[in-house]
Amino acid sequence: MTSGNMIKDFARKRSINVCIVNTGGCNGCDIEVVSTLAPRYDIEQYGIYVHNNPREADVLVVTGPVVLPWKERLKEIFEKTPEPKVVVAVGACALSCGIFKEGHVYGPVDKIIPVNAKLPGCPPRPSEIIEAVVSIAPEALAMKEKMMKEMELKNKNNQDTDNNQDNQDTNK
Ligand code: SF4
Repeated sequence: MTSGNMIKDFARKRSINVCIVNTGGCNGCDIEVVSTLAPRYDIEQYGIYVHNNPREADVLVVTGPVVLPWKERLKEIFEKTPEPKVVVAVGACALSCGIFKEGHVYGPVDKIIPVNAKLPGCPPRPSEIIEAVVSIAPEALAMKEKMMKEMELKNKNNQDTDNNQDNQDTNK
């Protein structure tokens, strides 16, 4: 493992990374999600960091009713997100397609990917979004810690096997 990856691993063990995915809503929910970063709400004080990289995410915060281009894309993003992954559907559109119900939409989100927590509202307030993410954070952290311990153990076992093999080869 490179030192860059080690630092990343160290930081990831102690924080929750959230990736926002807008599947075609009006952006109202996204504005409220982004507001959680503002000093007034300061979601980072809980060790929660918001960005747009599913490969680094523990939690996907999904908004919108899933319009056609997002039907497959949402599945791809879910696949790209490393285990353990937690999905929070935010807003009426994500939960029930909301005002877009009669349009060409493919949601709600839980029809496309598994959802762990649902937050209603059009849009929900930033404080409610923080509450929803914080409420599932301990579960996500516990799952993450368990998986990382399993990975470390597996890597150690592989390393021991390699060392034993090297010793056997040297003694031949
Ligand atoms: S729930 Fe309301 S604010 Fe959020 S994307 Fe839908 S219409 Fe916009």
